[in-house]
Amino acid sequence: MDDERRSGAPDDPIASVLETFREAVEAGVSSRGEFERLKGRFLGREKGLVPALFSGVKDIPPAERGGFGARANAVKREIVEAIGRLSDDVARREAMSRERAAAVDVTLPGRRPRTGALHPLTIVRRRVEEIFLRMGYSIADGPEIENDFHNFEALNFPPEHPARDTQDTFFLQMPPEAEAGRREANPESDLEDRAPRSPLLLRTHTSPVQIREMRQRGAPLRMIMPGRVYRKDEVDATHSPVFHQVEALVVDKGISLADLKGTVETFLSELFGAGTKARFIPTFFPFVEPGADVHMTCIFCRGAGCRKCKGSGWIEIMGAGCVHPNVLVRAGIDPETYTGFAFGGGIDRIALLLYGFPDLRLLFEGDERFLGQYAGRLLGDPA
Ligand SMILES: [Zn+2]
Repeated sequence: MDDERRSGAPDDPIASVLETFREAVEAGVSSRGEFERLKGRFLGREKGLVPALFSGVKDIPPAERGGFGARANAVKREIVEAIGRLSDDVARREAMSRERAAAVDVTLPGRRPRTGALHPLTIVRRRVEEIFLRMGYSIADGPEIENDFHNFEALNFPPEHPARDTQDTFFLQMPPEAEAGRREANPESDLEDRAPRSPLLLRTHTSPVQIREMRQRGAPLRMIMPGRVYRKDEVDATHSPVFHQVEALVVDKGISLADLKGTVETFLSELFGAGTKARFIPTFFPFVEPGADVHMTCIFCRGAGCRKCKGSGWIEIMGAGCVHPNVLVRAGIDPETYTGFAFGGGIDRIALLLYGFPDLRLLFEGDERFLGQYAGRLLGDPA
């Protein structure tokens, strides 16, 4: 009985609502959602405890209604004011947490800006260039749009050679007036005049740079010619209509096949590792005599024999030979005084071997997910 009286009498609905409200506020309101539920529970029009007090008035004896109404209104006012203060608190807390979220946290690690990276082909080309620069070679460049003279004729390709077929070579069509002008140039002219008249094409190898350099500088010379070349190939794992070559040319007095072999082995050992051997398999290229396919120690099995080298211990890597006297003559160099050698191969093929890429297309498709893995990394560097 005492307990009931102190707690505000269970039969007094006004005191009961007020007490319930105070307990709810005491328990704390930590979010906007909780606040809305509290507000609805007490002031909600349909089921709110405060409106329910007023709808109960009709059950009270008329004499007591006045006093009941006054007390209910006082409690309602108290609850409405308290809910107004709670609403302000919730809004203030929300604003504070928004501010915290928007603030810069200086303790967070920075985001690394995306930077460009060297393409694997560039890395390989530079590595090749470094090797030759150390051996005293210079680097020469030439036009990718060439003419038949530099690309074929001066390199001793006979007129009917299959490489000159439009099946293999991209010949360029000129505007009719330019074409006519070229044809009308002196038909009896020497080499000097024939060059600008010959049909234009996309160079099929880097060898025309040999002709340009020899004609311009004369002998002796020692240089490499890296660059892009074009052939009418369908794209597949080992072919592309555009690819990259590098070739070396040395012209001097007394240059022999022995010099060629020593130079090739030195280069391959620098690039693929000490102890890499070369063997020469005789073959024919119009611009060298003798000519050879260069095979090197298989880099996968170091010569023991594996699947990649078909058990032979050797893989084909380049072409090589001594510069054909006809080429020296067309380049304006006396073959009685000077001899030379040349060798070269695909930069793309070297990259596939060094990186272990299975497919040439990886080098040309520009997929950053792939290329980014080699960002600025030189061969042999730790991953
Ligand atoms: Zn092997």
